[in-house]
Amino acid sequence: MSLAKIFSVSSRVRASGVSGVIVKRAQYSSSSEGNVEKVYPQNIPGYKYVNAEEQDMSFRAMSDRAAQTMFWTELARGFAVTLAHIFKEPATINYPFEKGPLSPRFRGEHALRRYPSGEERCIACKLCEAICPAQAITIEAEERKDGSRRTTRYDIDMTKCIYCGFCQEACPVDAIVEGPNFEFTTETHEELLYNKEKLLSNGDKWESEIASNIRADHLYR
Ligand code: SF4
Ligand code: SF4
Repeated sequence: MSLAKIFSVSSRVRASGVSGVIVKRAQYSSSSEGNVEKVYPQNIPGYKYVNAEEQDMSFRAMSDRAAQTMFWTELARGFAVTLAHIFKEPATINYPFEKGPLSPRFRGEHALRRYPSGEERCIACKLCEAICPAQAITIEAEERKDGSRRTTRYDIDMTKCIYCGFCQEACPVDAIVEGPNFEFTTETHEELLYNKEKLLSNGDKWESEIASNIRADHLYR
């Protein structure tokens, strides 16, 4: 057949095992008689077509499809899939009685940590306040009698916070952290305006989990 005219359209194929999509071309060739025929490129090992191919319109294929529709074989196959899943381990969990695993990097409710001696870690450098993109942190500080610098006020407006984690990344002494607790919903806005006492009590409550998460992630920090 002489090719009077060749034009092509994009036909997407995805390389299995290779990231990204490679565009391959399906060609339309038209003969001198004016018939247009779609020519698929040959199958290449390792690649598979993701666009729909044209249905086989032979008598055998059409009668197969008609029989499947008439005898509801799709329904039977659907029930078989349902039955097979009854005996498999369920993918769902019975929350809140069961909980899924959490990454050590999970960024949940904030907490202020203490040293084992009970002394608060925060040295009031205000780096967290400066870096917070939501301006959710407010710190006031003063010098103690022993010359150390500590906060007199440490507030976080949890309704402004976007849980970016910048504050804990900026903190030089791992004082402010985002702990593993994600169950801290409240009924009022005011309850989400955390002060220093609330943050320190969060730290006391979650210290063992927070410390183990920091240990688990220390190679990547
Ligand atoms: S997590 Fe981000 S938005 Fe929230 S207080 Fe820290 S720095 Fe601000
Ligand atoms: S929490 Fe950390 S970064 Fe923020 S003021 Fe205290 S020491 Fe500085």
